[in-house]
Amino acid sequence: LRTIPKQRGRRNARVDGSIEHVIELGSRSAHIVPGVLELIGNTPLIRINSLSNALGVEILGKAEFLNPGGSVKDRVALQIITEAETHGYLKPGGHVFEGTSGSTGISIAMVAKAKGYDATIVMPDDTAVEKMRSVEAYGATVERVRPAGIVDKRQYVNRAKHLALEHGPAGYFADQFENQANFRAHVSGTAPELWKQTGGNVDAFVSGAGTGGTISGVGTFLKHKRKDIRVVLADCQGSGLYNKVKHGVMYSQRESEGTRRRHQVDTVVEGIGLNRLTANVELALPIIDDAFQVSDAEAVAMAHYVSAHDGLLLGSSSAVNLVTCCKLVRAMGWKGSKRVITTILCDSGSRHFSKFWNEEYLRKTGITNDPELIAVLLR
Ligand code: PMP
Repeated sequence: LRTIPKQRGRRNARVDGSIEHVIELGSRSAHIVPGVLELIGNTPLIRINSLSNALGVEILGKAEFLNPGGSVKDRVALQIITEAETHGYLKPGGHVFEGTSGSTGISIAMVAKAKGYDATIVMPDDTAVEKMRSVEAYGATVERVRPAGIVDKRQYVNRAKHLALEHGPAGYFADQFENQANFRAHVSGTAPELWKQTGGNVDAFVSGAGTGGTISGVGTFLKHKRKDIRVVLADCQGSGLYNKVKHGVMYSQRESEGTRRRHQVDTVVEGIGLNRLTANVELALPIIDDAFQVSDAEAVAMAHYVSAHDGLLLGSSSAVNLVTCCKLVRAMGWKGSKRVITTILCDSGSRHFSKFWNEEYLRKTGITNDPELIAVLLR
């Protein structure tokens, strides 16, 4: 008999290579999931072997790209829409409106359609085109607007709010930036999962902030469990959050240059970075212990590094998180200490082929993959 390798979780199963046996195994594992929404959450925690081995520190990433809508934002969309139903803001025939630079739009479209609502997503027109296509594929309406500062009424969030109001009582503005259901999705889901998966053995949590929901929600839960867990902000180029944490003032490069577009975040990274305070970021500020800035070039190099060494194809914000994990190890002198750093792998690189994972696009912005940037981080 030819033997087949033992399968995870089936240690007691009789192992042989016969087709009957394989069919038997397959039949036993089959079960029915009552709809796509049941697939949201309960994501695995993956050890990033290359970085963990090189640094002598456990770097663990929550594989949020495995959610059915492809990102951490599925949890948020489900929480926002479910709470809106509970409070009677969304009823049959309802229409959800949201302004988003990408992932949230896909998640809102998916959850809305699974629950029988219409959705309209307003996006800046410099968002990766594959994200817009996904929203459209769910049958949601997409409106693309010119990138603009938050003070401009044509800005994507303001435009979505306006459309929801115009729609009348059946319209609901999801409002991920100000809606604290976003924070609650992480307090009740992401964080307790992470706690259970590590058995509470966590020294730090690293996360970027786009709305601030992830870092505030997970950070608050972890601090509640153990005050000494370090909550660390991973900030991208062009964002003012780093300066807010380190120096108490929201201050970005653009601001210092006095440009009129100072509220926009100038980076090839999608989904994180802010130059204004949101309700969800306000919740995070008291519990953030430290912050690190990550350049676009470092993020690109990290994404290439873990795809080549770990077989993990990640999006830009995940790469920023992993660079920050390495910077934290250096700043704390944790190399070789076997400490446990947890972070979020927000979405997959397959969402970013037209921008962050596109050589030609990067060349135009003056970025090339430079492996030396990672070698320096791991030294
Ligand atoms: N990564 C990606 C790809 C995102 O779309 C977002 C959300 N904008 C984030 C990270 C940041 O998460 P949060 O909004 O919870 O701060």
